[in-house]
Amino acid sequence: MKREKYIKNMIGGVLTDPASNQYLDNINPATGEVYSFIPDSDKNDVASAVKAAQKALPDWMNTPADLRGKIMERVADLINQNLAYFAESESIDNGKSIELARSVDIPRAVQNFRFFASAIRSFSSEAHMMENRAVNYTVRQPIGIVGCISPWNLPLYLFTWKISPAIAAGNCVVAKPSEITPMTAFLLSQICIEAGMPPGVLNIVHGLGSKAGEAIVTHPDIKAISFTGGTATGKHIAATAAPMFKKLSLELGGKNPNIIFADCDFDKMMTTSIRSSFSNQGQICLCGSRIFIEKPIYERFKKEFIEKVRLIKVGDPASENTQLGAIVSKQHRDKIIDYIKLAKKEGGKILCGGHIPEINKRCEKGYFIEPTVIEGLPYSCRVNTEEIFGPVVSITPFDTEEEVIRMANATDYGLACSIWTESLTRAHHTAARIQAGIVWVNCWMLRDLRTPFGGMKNSGMGREGGFEAFRFFTEAKNVCINLEKS
Ligand code: NAD
Repeated sequence: MKREKYIKNMIGGVLTDPASNQYLDNINPATGEVYSFIPDSDKNDVASAVKAAQKALPDWMNTPADLRGKIMERVADLINQNLAYFAESESIDNGKSIELARSVDIPRAVQNFRFFASAIRSFSSEAHMMENRAVNYTVRQPIGIVGCISPWNLPLYLFTWKISPAIAAGNCVVAKPSEITPMTAFLLSQICIEAGMPPGVLNIVHGLGSKAGEAIVTHPDIKAISFTGGTATGKHIAATAAPMFKKLSLELGGKNPNIIFADCDFDKMMTTSIRSSFSNQGQICLCGSRIFIEKPIYERFKKEFIEKVRLIKVGDPASENTQLGAIVSKQHRDKIIDYIKLAKKEGGKILCGGHIPEINKRCEKGYFIEPTVIEGLPYSCRVNTEEIFGPVVSITPFDTEEEVIRMANATDYGLACSIWTESLTRAHHTAARIQAGIVWVNCWMLRDLRTPFGGMKNSGMGREGGFEAFRFFTEAKNVCINLEKS
């Protein structure tokens, strides 16, 4: 298994060139240099992938769950054996620090395969008696061929988060990773072949969203789409897929509040708030980008937070002591810089950061931004309501629980929230009234893969994780048997 200059699709268990024979540039964001090429796939490649999936489907859906699980565990073992190489590849492709890729992204990809391989063995369906007249039982059958489309921020982590439950449940998959970070999905294809995954069970088609992605969404034989990405893309996919009556799971953007009450465990809150603000350069859909602090501790928070942010080591992602690596692309870096400029126009004061830092010679053309903290913004302004998805946070003081809940809920998003308090009552009250699919109390990103994962409002539709994912990737069929004697 290795990185190649020319990435290939995997169709029917074979690594193939795109039908068009056209390739796109793949850029290392830390250096700004093209370092490999991605298949510019189109509807012809998707059509071939669907044919391969159709061929594999009858056997795969009838393969015992235990055997499907064993194949997936082999995939997990092989990723794990090559963890260092995968981490290095993810760091080059995405710009994230090598340490983060090694400690979070790749271990989680391994865990995704292991978790769903195991969970499918315990997944069962319901049965009940209807008085003494009939017995009902529900069969959960695989949907058939499903499409999985993922973003660039946690490339292998999120790609495998979708693929694993889909194939564990007996579906065959046509999957597309982000064209901005394709490399670890390519390595995964090599691993799947080595692990003996039957050809056609997982097909990986690389390329642009507007071409390869669109072809997946519109293909009539792909019956469900699991998508993670931006809200605008999700809206477009929903508009396209809904008239085709496809099942849809949409995991979209966020603008998450981090609510800090004066009675919190200050040190624990501070350490975690640094992580929840700037992990992965703030490019995690769950990052808390609006920090609300109760007034009695506002000045203390501000002083200590800024001192700590200034110590964050921004640098070459390949360096072991780097904490904040490169932004994923030039286009995204420029978008974040535009938001920092907008913040000033909206009345914000930049307390630290806000600039493009100089790194080292190797990274002089890379896309970096200093971690940035802004105060003084109205809670309803664009910078405080639109998703920036970068190392930029705003801090805002509050007086009462009522006020902070109103401000926290004042966006179209509703993905995640963190609440910091030592009061059990206040934690429950606030959690109940926050519009978010995921609420953390006195923690952040503490993930249990059994729990439902997803957002409210414009942050998405449906839930991933645990048995929720299996319910999405199966069709429920109720069988009713009459027990009455004639
Ligand atoms: P994006 O929407 O631009 O792209 C996501 C994927 O969709 C890519 O693979 C892309 O090629 C594909 N795509 C684009 N247009 C398409 C189309 N017309 N049809 C089919 N596929 C298409 O998002 P991005 O910039 O890659 O990712 C960042 C976004 O993802 C942020 O908004 C972030 O909040 C969100 N995100 C959400 C979650 C979550 O779980 N809710 C997790 C991670 C990222």
